[in-house]
Amino acid sequence: MIDREPSWTYTWAWLVLVAAGGCVADDSLPPDGPAWDDQPGVDEPVHEEIGEEEEVTALFAPSQSVWVAATTGPCSTAVVAGLAEQLIDEVECVRPGTMARIDATPGVSLSASTFPYLQGPAADGLRRAAATRAVTINSGLRTVVQQYVLYTWYVRGRCTSVVTLAAAPGRSNHEAGLAVDVANYDAAYTALTSHGFRWLGNGDPVHYDYVAGGVDLRSLSVQAFQRLWNRNHPEAPLAEDGAWGPSTEAAVAQAPSAGFAAGASCGAGVGGEVAIEVYWSRGADGRYALRALADPRVARVEYRVDGYVIGGASRADGDNFPDDYGFTVEAAERHFEVVGFDADDQRVGHGVGLLDVTAGTGVYIKQMGRRLYEIGLERAPAGVAAIEVRADGYLLTDAVAGTTRSARGAVRSTFNQLGSRQFTITTFAADGAVRGTLRRTFTLE
Ligand SMILES: [Zn+2]
Repeated sequence: MIDREPSWTYTWAWLVLVAAGGCVADDSLPPDGPAWDDQPGVDEPVHEEIGEEEEVTALFAPSQSVWVAATTGPCSTAVVAGLAEQLIDEVECVRPGTMARIDATPGVSLSASTFPYLQGPAADGLRRAAATRAVTINSGLRTVVQQYVLYTWYVRGRCTSVVTLAAAPGRSNHEAGLAVDVANYDAAYTALTSHGFRWLGNGDPVHYDYVAGGVDLRSLSVQAFQRLWNRNHPEAPLAEDGAWGPSTEAAVAQAPSAGFAAGASCGAGVGGEVAIEVYWSRGADGRYALRALADPRVARVEYRVDGYVIGGASRADGDNFPDDYGFTVEAAERHFEVVGFDADDQRVGHGVGLLDVTAGTGVYIKQMGRRLYEIGLERAPAGVAAIEVRADGYLLTDAVAGTTRSARGAVRSTFNQLGSRQFTITTFAADGAVRGTLRRTFTLE
């Protein structure tokens, strides 16, 4: 039998118990998730049985915790894609050049739920293999939060059509970004094994490991989470040791599935200024409430529109730097900027946005973190049931919903490349008919 708060020193014992049909009651786990100790002596990766994930059609509140997403959400790791993207960004801050995207690789097709990253050398090997034979991938990199979701399903007996065996976070070789699950594993065998991949064999036939380079990223993935957590929770810091333990696990369970308010930060001097999350809302009287979320080193902010300072606040005024402003002229496509200063009044960060100062339907673009932006509608007509957003014609996937068509009126996306973009927002009625199109030009910084 398992106690209410299980604590295993050796996760294999649990795996064997479950595999043998052991009596894990569905509600036997505390709300902050299962607890287990690290297994420093166990280096054997767990080869998991992972099936096709569901398309995410349900919508999720941005504030939903990873635990709630894992225990009530659809059977797709896309439910934590927003947070996972921040982890990738943070890994890039700690160790630049580690990750490479694989979603624009000729000859490579990805299932809808595949998180499109591998370590650089593995991505390179895949590109060369796919040049000789098309490769269809069902799973590549999983960050520690995606592994947490899989493991939670497995432990609780959820999503059994997707997962029948899952490794604990920090234990899967997919977390290293050096493994792929290949749908056409037979046809692609020669191409992959000629370019650095090793087939695992009939026990897990879809699985190939990249063995010609790369580093063990599993602790880096955990450390990236710890850094993100500490940036957002200076009152309850975690040791940034890269070790998966009960404190880190409890923090992952509580973390927002769509990503933290303050995203990845390389720190001044490495990646330049810190990213500041911008936020505003228009009140019934037409005045705008202005807010910003920033790294703790930011002591005060200035709010600027089209280059003019319209307000500001210090941290003493409130953690989200509250101010408000009333425009005298209505105008679309205004450039919004928050500039952050440290205690010595040195400029240390900024965030940007696009603001439609209009009484009717407006488009907004708000920076939410480093390379992370949300594009959406303000004051949309009641008949708008969903939107799609394209950047220079490329259809974006909403990191919150995991779908391209968003019923929450906004699409959140991480951009690999910065610079000017033409955004096209298409609105849809409840029956799926196109209602209209809005276009805005904006420079991602
Ligand atoms: Zn695999």
